Amino acid sequence: MRIAPYLFALALYCFAPAAQAMEWRSVDKAMLAALQDDDINRHKDEPEFLEGISVSEIRFSENGFDWHLIRFSSEANRDGPLWVVPHDDENAAFEAMIAALHKYGGTGIAVNTGSTSTRRQTGYGLCGVRSAMVSACDPNRNFDERTPVFTQAILDAWKPGRPLIALHTNSHGFGGDGAGGRGDITMLDARAYARGEIIARADGYFGNRTIAMLDNPDVYAILPYAGTKAISDGETVCRNAMNQSGINVWHERVRRSDGSLSNYVALQRPDIAYVNFEAKREVDLSTAAKAQGLMIDAYLQKCAGLWSQPMSAPVSGP
Ligand SMILES: [Zn+2]
Repeated sequence: MRIAPYLFALALYCFAPAAQAMEWRSVDKAMLAALQDDDINRHKDEPEFLEGISVSEIRFSENGFDWHLIRFSSEANRDGPLWVVPHDDENAAFEAMIAALHKYGGTGIAVNTGSTSTRRQTGYGLCGVRSAMVSACDPNRNFDERTPVFTQAILDAWKPGRPLIALHTNSHGFGGDGAGGRGDITMLDARAYARGEIIARADGYFGNRTIAMLDNPDVYAILPYAGTKAISDGETVCRNAMNQSGINVWHERVRRSDGSLSNYVALQRPDIAYVNFEAKREVDLSTAAKAQGLMIDAYLQKCAGLWSQPMSAPVSGP
């Protein structure tokens, strides 16, 4: 029937506001397996893993994709940072998020693509800033005014005066990818690398190489900034301090959003102090999670000026 696409579009329009009004649903610890999340299931025999952390979920459809977000909140300190793990296949980033929740409190949100734990959500529709219909949507390309339910479901958990910290582990960063430097998740200038030179990309600053685990160009912090502005003094102070802690830092200049959380925040929510930590994927999840932990520690200790509030005090752990 020719009227079907119209009715489908009308249905999307009509139900979108209802989805926006949907609430997060609390998940009892005994019911965690029903979430079918590989990250949670990996720790199903470790009750201490989520001890002191309450879990809730939200499901909604938007622009042709069914989303399932799982939220983790520190019961001892709900006023900490907002942690976001958009990619379900980046398991070490999830480990780092839960460790950070235990240590610093706050709220963490992870995208669950289902029991198969894929990077992108299957479906059919519009994904973030892309104009073409696609059959799989990268959650970290889906932050946009055209995807308000998805975008706000995550950003509504952010609290003023607290940072927003995104965690990623990259599978083919650049160095050591077996393809001579193919991925774009790296501190390195790709053209120089092709000439045999190792130099930082524009607005990239290497750490002081004092911590072996962080001395890798595919392990770094991203501080995005709007292309119409300069890198702020506070961001420069933060970068210098992180460099001194052995951390590579790249100030990502954003002119036009690619739909990633960092691009969206840089252009649309300059009030939010945002950082993204990239660690290299390793077989042992704890390796990348430890690297993430070191970068988180340094950022929360040294960059508090960016969010204009005292850092959130550790609630447990070392
Ligand atoms: Zn990622």
